[in-house]
Amino acid sequence: MKFEKKKFLTDVDGILHADYGTDLASANRKELYNALSRAVMSGIYPDWKAEKAENKRRCGYFSAEFLMGRAIFSNLLNLGILEEADEALKSIGEDLKQFEEVEDAALGNGGLGRLAACYLESAATMDIPLDGYGIRYRYGLFAQTFVDGYQHEEGDNWLKWGDPWSVRAERDAVTVHFADQDVRAVPYDMPIFGYKNGVVNTLRLWQAEPVQAFDFATFNDMKGERTATENFNATKITDVLYPNDNTMVGKILRLRQQYFLVSASLQDIVKKQKAAGHDLHELSRYYCFQLNDTHPVIAIPELLRLLKAEGFTFEEAFKVCAETFNFTNHTIMAEALEKWDVLALSDLLPDVYQEIVNCQRRLEADGLDGNKFYIIRDNVIHMAHLAIYVSSHVNGVAEIHTNILKTDTFKNWYERFPEKFVNVTNGITPRRWLLLNNPAMAREIDKYIGTGWHTDLAQLRKLEPHIEKMLPAFRAVKRANKEKLAAYISAHEGIDLSPDFIFDVQVKRLHEYKRQLLNAFAILYFYYAIKDGEITDFPPTAFIFGAKAAPGYYNAKAIIKYINEIAKLVNNDPDVSKVMKVVFVQNYNVSYAEKIVCAADVSEQISMAGMEASGTSNMKFMLNGTVTLGTLDGANVEICEEAGRENNYIFGATVEDVAAVKQYYCPTEMLGNDPKLRRVVETLRDGTFSDEKGMLKKLYESIVTDYGADRYLVLYDFADYVRAKMQLLRDYGTEDFDRKCLHNMAAAGKFSADRSVTDYAKLIWHLK
Ligand SMILES: *Cc1c(COP(=O)(O)O)cnc(C)c1O
Repeated sequence: MKFEKKKFLTDVDGILHADYGTDLASANRKELYNALSRAVMSGIYPDWKAEKAENKRRCGYFSAEFLMGRAIFSNLLNLGILEEADEALKSIGEDLKQFEEVEDAALGNGGLGRLAACYLESAATMDIPLDGYGIRYRYGLFAQTFVDGYQHEEGDNWLKWGDPWSVRAERDAVTVHFADQDVRAVPYDMPIFGYKNGVVNTLRLWQAEPVQAFDFATFNDMKGERTATENFNATKITDVLYPNDNTMVGKILRLRQQYFLVSASLQDIVKKQKAAGHDLHELSRYYCFQLNDTHPVIAIPELLRLLKAEGFTFEEAFKVCAETFNFTNHTIMAEALEKWDVLALSDLLPDVYQEIVNCQRRLEADGLDGNKFYIIRDNVIHMAHLAIYVSSHVNGVAEIHTNILKTDTFKNWYERFPEKFVNVTNGITPRRWLLLNNPAMAREIDKYIGTGWHTDLAQLRKLEPHIEKMLPAFRAVKRANKEKLAAYISAHEGIDLSPDFIFDVQVKRLHEYKRQLLNAFAILYFYYAIKDGEITDFPPTAFIFGAKAAPGYYNAKAIIKYINEIAKLVNNDPDVSKVMKVVFVQNYNVSYAEKIVCAADVSEQISMAGMEASGTSNMKFMLNGTVTLGTLDGANVEICEEAGRENNYIFGATVEDVAAVKQYYCPTEMLGNDPKLRRVVETLRDGTFSDEKGMLKKLYESIVTDYGADRYLVLYDFADYVRAKMQLLRDYGTEDFDRKCLHNMAAAGKFSADRSVTDYAKLIWHLK
């Protein structure tokens, strides 16, 4: 994008006059943010229009979550005007940095939603015609604070800064029908900019509104209450993002959200195909769809319904669906694979339900064993099975995960439909996760290998011969990043960290399978060893956590409380706090991640093997030159393949070990054999920590005494984890350790989302 400082400032000033009745000299921060953003938006219109006008085959990426984070910096970066805009602001005594106050668009929970955001940006950068379709939640993922160490949640009013990066596309509004109500779906379009290539794709987010605007006549007739109720019901659908990660909630409102998203999107697409004179039988010539997990899978029966309304037979409609839909699985956890009660779904969406029944009948007519292959069984609808049966491709998100899908989770389906199953290992966009969050490191890399890696991350391999020369600069940049993070944490969490300490980081959603508890136990183990004089030379380390727990997830909230109690104990102990600090940062989100990822010395990726489908924060850390302390799970396996196992710290049971150990595993026996571990685990119930609500005691039971206790083998992996962690901390500070960091950075190319979307385009979408 061309940038002329004078014109830019005049444009911003003009928008301030028109929209806010103010000017550059007196605008407040919010006004300036909005006017600046709108000035940029008016400039990109021609490119956006051109992209929409082109008659390319496109992919629709259907996702209930898009964890976009902040738009302003990445948009300016991709448009190639980040520095120019900053200079322009500086010439009038302002700067861009002030907009770090702008709220994140947190319309997602964690990895799945962030992946969708990375894919949009990478597709635009790779010039792949991919558009996102999602929900414009009024409130995103809750804002988190800690009160007495307990998680406290507040609504996330992300729109309070306005939404200058969206356009309300009123003319494309459609009506979505439920058995009990009609709802108007109004799209808000967000431009997605490719990196310095002029490509502008679209993220279309649907907002629910009442079909009829406020009816004054009815209100006057004293029936106002009824109108108000209708309005309330309609807007409620897109009020709030469900804060659950990797679990299914089973609420009807959630089903309404899912159907609202896919029905609006498909109606819009069908309408435009017809207007363009395209034969809907040939929809796959113009479109394909990617279903991001089971959340949008109800799109399949919805498209069947829409096509039958156009006069298609079921078989004709089925053929179109089979050609257009593809399904990504993100987890093998049974509690996350969506299942809907037949009565609930058929009540709310009778016609859609009928199409699911038709799919089940078709499956039966295929003559397959009904015990192995079913969509509806015992009055439960299995959305993953529906997706697999109809889709042309089913993909897992890392090699190990796809193998588990084939050999275990969807074994029967794989054996019958092997050609459908493919792997696409997840990726992250290197623009946000290196250029933007770590510009000093990016400039160092540029010095050695030029800038080609910005859009071709495999080129980072060219760093290998320069690693020795890069060591001092690497250390200096990491140090500066640590100083900045320490200052931020001091200001926001009230805990002072020394940048001389090792920054050992575990940031991700709070989940038992991710095993933050294993990390906590190890910290306490070190704490007691230092207190008892068994370790006299502990390498000074700051253990940094960040995580939100689903508000209804009891054990996850207990783990937050526990770690906050440990932090209090450690940080207030004058002996130990000289070499150890613990901090759990509040409200971990994309913007916090950007600050943390570039300042970490250790990336904790310690899920029980087999449970983390891929992970993507592991990739963010690697790209920023951080070693992984992890299990052979998800993409950690491929990280080791790319960067060398010797450059990372691997411990614990493998997938094969887990299966074997579970046959005989007994947590009480583990504790009996290890008095030091027992002492640590006992702190959950022996009064070491305040536990007014009995949460820690419950956590103890889930680890030691409950039936099937320690489901995720925390105690089993403890000894090997402590060994690997200690080894890492002792290696830190040597040139050898810094070399490992740079080997990881140089090997991160595979984990670019540019590679992922290119894989999707080739293997699944057949675009370009
Ligand atoms: C990348 C990211 C995640 C995913 O982290 P994992 O460790 O892969 O689960 C979650 N939340 C935020 C804010 C992220 O940026």
